[in-house]
Amino acid sequence: MFSWAACSRKGHRFTKDGGVATREIEDIFADILERAKALDPASTRKWFEELTVLHLDGGSLGIGCPDEASVQFLQDHCKGSFTRAAQQITGHLIAVDFNIRSDGQPDTHRRSLQPGLRLHPDYTFENFVVGPSNRLAHASCIAVSQSPGNTYNPLFVYGSSGLGKTHLLHAVCFEAQRRLENAIIQFLSCENFVNRFIRAIEEGNLAGFQSQFRTVDILVIDDVQFLREREHSQEEFFHTFNALYNNGKQIILSADSPPGKIPSLEERLISRFNWGLVARIDPPSYETRVAIVQKKAHLRGLDISEEIAGYVARKVQANIRELEGALTTIYAVANTTGQPIDLELVQTALEGQIKASVRHISIIDIIEVVTSYFGVRLADLQSKKRSQSIAEPRQICMYLARNLTRHSLGEIGGHLGGRDHTTVMHACGKINHAKETDPKMNALLNELTEQITQAPQR
Ligand code: ADP
Ligand code: MG
Repeated sequence: MFSWAACSRKGHRFTKDGGVATREIEDIFADILERAKALDPASTRKWFEELTVLHLDGGSLGIGCPDEASVQFLQDHCKGSFTRAAQQITGHLIAVDFNIRSDGQPDTHRRSLQPGLRLHPDYTFENFVVGPSNRLAHASCIAVSQSPGNTYNPLFVYGSSGLGKTHLLHAVCFEAQRRLENAIIQFLSCENFVNRFIRAIEEGNLAGFQSQFRTVDILVIDDVQFLREREHSQEEFFHTFNALYNNGKQIILSADSPPGKIPSLEERLISRFNWGLVARIDPPSYETRVAIVQKKAHLRGLDISEEIAGYVARKVQANIRELEGALTTIYAVANTTGQPIDLELVQTALEGQIKASVRHISIIDIIEVVTSYFGVRLADLQSKKRSQSIAEPRQICMYLARNLTRHSLGEIGGHLGGRDHTTVMHACGKINHAKETDPKMNALLNELTEQITQAPQR
């Protein structure tokens, strides 16, 4: 039975019956929060200051969050670090729960989300830095979020990976939801759309699928290049598009290239995608990159000097996701060495990271590291064997390939014994869950990633 009696870290007093004074609970929670931040600086956000403790008893810690998006973020990214932090501070196994705090205070900034809409709390217009490279895309997203169905329809945003397409799409949803509380919004990746379509056919529930997508006010589909060579999905998407468009509903799409350049996309879809506004996002200029580094640092609760922001912006030019990766590395190094973030630390921290980011990682690199780590052969991974000793390395390969390369699910499955994309998706989900809940798996994945990214270039 859980008891606080033995728990007396850092001078917190616990009574025999498990009761803890409110003040003490707040102090303990403050310690847990600090520890959780230290355990995972990359996921730390400034708004963690707004988290409160709802209860701490009976082996369970309830954490109060400002809104639904922050609950989702914490659940997806921080459950592991908060659980470990709670355990380390109290010396007990504690189940951590995140919930919206209902303090009865009306809050105009509170973002309520319709059930099922999953949005990243960082991806708002407020957190988006506007520059010449993304001005048109940003302005058109704002226009559409203010008056869906009435300005540009469809809105098609395209640009290379890591330039902010998904960020803008989430921002439109936040803003539309804030302005039109009752608007029904469907936001999903094209991959998800296709998978749900396939599942609906398998389950004989096409009507359910169709009514789900054809009755919304705003349909947002990210990465529509995923439709290439998927004839049946294209057909279904065509009818969904028509139904929404004819009813004056808003359609927002993103892709890595303009409609006409998406391979094997049907002509009738290309023409429809061009009906509204097609907005391109280009790689950001130096000034925009500096502003983004500062914005991202601020979001994590840290202000860095212009000199350091400038250094990072000069070093990492290709894509903004890599800029963020650079910041994460800097924080991790500062955190483990306990040193202040100055130019010297930043230079040392980024040396390895930049080498890794310019390196092209192939599935073969990943397979080599994973097979040698687990002492299995490639033929085993490609075989039908399902024993844990083979299945786990195979699933880890799939997860790492998904995260470190740009291969599609199908291509990854092809390398690992001709498995289909649903198998790869399942594997990625499973390993991701294990990573979040099992510190050993997290450490293992970090180690393998390090070996893969630091292996000599072929
Ligand atoms: P894409 O969907 O185009 O591949 P994302 O929207 O996922 O790119 O963006 C990658 C990362 O870069 C995200 O963390 C996003 O917040 C950030 N980002 C991209 N553009 C900007 C910008 N203009 N301002 C702030 N952050 C940005
Ligand atoms: Mg994206």
